[in-house]
Amino acid sequence: MAQRLLRHFRYGKTFAFLRRLTSSRSKSINAVRSLYLEQGLDNRPCVLCGGSEFTLICEGDRYGFDLDKQICDRCGLVQTSPAVKKDFLNTFYRDHYRRLYTKRMEVDHARLVDEQHDKGRRFLQFLKSTEAAGQLADLAVIEMGCSSGGILDTFKPHCRSVQGCDLDVEAIRYGKETLGLDLEVSEFPTHLPDGPRLFLLSHVLEHTHDPLVSLKQIKSLMSAQDYLFIEVPGINMVAEGDYKNDLKSYFHLAHVCDFSEGTLRALAARAGYEVLSCNETVTALLRPSDEAELPWRRSEKDTPENILRIEATRQAR
Ligand SMILES: [Zn+2]
Repeated sequence: MAQRLLRHFRYGKTFAFLRRLTSSRSKSINAVRSLYLEQGLDNRPCVLCGGSEFTLICEGDRYGFDLDKQICDRCGLVQTSPAVKKDFLNTFYRDHYRRLYTKRMEVDHARLVDEQHDKGRRFLQFLKSTEAAGQLADLAVIEMGCSSGGILDTFKPHCRSVQGCDLDVEAIRYGKETLGLDLEVSEFPTHLPDGPRLFLLSHVLEHTHDPLVSLKQIKSLMSAQDYLFIEVPGINMVAEGDYKNDLKSYFHLAHVCDFSEGTLRALAARAGYEVLSCNETVTALLRPSDEAELPWRRSEKDTPENILRIEATRQAR
């Protein structure tokens, strides 16, 4: 058996088992676990670089799901490997995701929209520091995975137009009726405005089954003058106090990949995007290039030693 990088008991299979057993969410957790065991896991190459050598980091996530997090030996991307199947993700989001998070099925959209407004304000601040700053008023904004639309609601007075799509029927209904937004139930937009556009992808890419394919699909919708804004939860922020410095809280069944600035930059290059701005949060602004793929390199920071550095901040807390 492979030696685990995070050697503490709490990162192992036995701890995950105990967590599942004693959790107040036991019932949901076991239903979800049966589902991924039934469908089987995907033993696939690294989703960023295609490499097949990994270093095992840990064997359980915050809920006690017995999935392995591994770091690719070639590119340094942390990912769930073997991965859950795409069909599993679809069923999981439809039937289990909310119950697992909130312990209930009813969704407080008003509260969600408040959180989305905060995100929207933060995103606008970020964009004002990029080369898109002077152009914001001319951009048509299209958000994929927009939920109830709070981010778009914040962008609306600052941009030419806003529209969004999401597979969550209830969220879309709320955003249309309460916020009066142009939203549709769809994974990708079915219509696009002319002129320069800003595509938004907030906390979506870490959930997608194959983020490289997703980025390429989005690029196929874009013109040369368009922008793509992305945010995903950055793994290095755990060392700065996010998730109470705890990688096990950060590691999450629903997160297929766990990005850093370095691995998001590399993935963007693989998908043929030029990176205009990117930080460790991870918040980024990209622009499509003419090339199908741009040269990428592994960041020196994306190493097993970096994972141990993050873990040391938990122990020092
Ligand atoms: Zn890789």
